[in-house]
Amino acid sequence: MKGRVWTELDMNHLKHNVEWFRENLSSNTEIMAVVKANAYGHGDVSIARELNRQGVRAFAVATAGEGVWLRENKVKGDILVLGFSCREEFADLCRCNLIQTVIDEEYAEELNSFGREIRVHIKIDTGMHRLGEDYQNLDGIKKIYACSNLRVEGLYTHLSVADSQDPGDIDFTRGQIRHFHEIVQELREQGYPTGKLHIQSSYGVLNYPELKCHYARIGIALYGVLSSGKDHTRLKAELEPVLSLRARIAAVREVRPGESVGYGRDFIAPDWMRIAVVTIGYGDGYPRNLSNGRGHVLLHGELVPVIGRICMDQLMIDVTHVTDVAAGDVVTLIGRDHGKEIRAEQVAAWSGTISNEILCRLNYREE
Ligand SMILES: *Cc1c(COP(=O)(O)O)cnc(C)c1O
Repeated sequence: MKGRVWTELDMNHLKHNVEWFRENLSSNTEIMAVVKANAYGHGDVSIARELNRQGVRAFAVATAGEGVWLRENKVKGDILVLGFSCREEFADLCRCNLIQTVIDEEYAEELNSFGREIRVHIKIDTGMHRLGEDYQNLDGIKKIYACSNLRVEGLYTHLSVADSQDPGDIDFTRGQIRHFHEIVQELREQGYPTGKLHIQSSYGVLNYPELKCHYARIGIALYGVLSSGKDHTRLKAELEPVLSLRARIAAVREVRPGESVGYGRDFIAPDWMRIAVVTIGYGDGYPRNLSNGRGHVLLHGELVPVIGRICMDQLMIDVTHVTDVAAGDVVTLIGRDHGKEIRAEQVAAWSGTISNEILCRLNYREE
């Protein structure tokens, strides 16, 4: 237990999730652990090192800077940069032995002009229309192979509605998968090396577990969380949440009927009540739109509401019906407390977003 706000990581749960994926992936598919955005708020170095211990040898990050940071902290294995790196970062790609995504033909030429060998995976756009060379532009893809400084080690695509069970969305996804395989087939027939192939992210695995790729790029589900608690997936995910988020009671106060609590006087006490001030606010990444009873926290195993407006560094809760509350007591915002649990999916639902955003925005301040 630490200072005013902290996260706890349950590495046994991480191990369980890794093992669950290993059992449920096709036999030759390896986990590529997605540890971008500080491993979805979990702490990228701790998570990646633990995954190294569990035999995970491939990682994905969003930026070259994230890859450099992992290397400086002795993370082993392949590290794929999923996003755009600018010219100023090309030297880092080489120095830290990172793999850069080729996001289109023009970008390949930019990378190639750096004049040193760069390891790359080519991204193919099969319908997401974000990054990737168009699957219909075979000539463009072949021009990427012609770049003599690029060592093509893999090819991948990204699914845009893998989380949906709607028949139209399933058709669309099957189309994306087909386009990808067709382009791979075509390249192979023409003698181009295609290297490691990958398509699925978390929901790609949960809804299309039969795909046989070299890697699955697994992010959110590795942390034991789904994007939304409402999602139903073909493969029933038996995963355990890795992260708990906790803070402390700073003070307990009596409030008289008619008195207000917090900024804007949004909350007026209907009766005598006891409130507690908690040492976390939106400056720590706890969403401000959970003000005024939308958010709840666990205290001594009881679910209690946030009252008034959430501040930058603090928030207030109603503890009228909780016994023996004192300054220093631990408050659970995500996680288990005395057999009760608040899941990240629940916090996301209260806040009107997905758990990915709740987790990766966590930004608690160490002393
Ligand atoms: C973030 C990301 C992933 C991981 O997605 P999850 O849904 O968290 O598993 C996979 N692939 C790409 C290209 C990504 O940007």
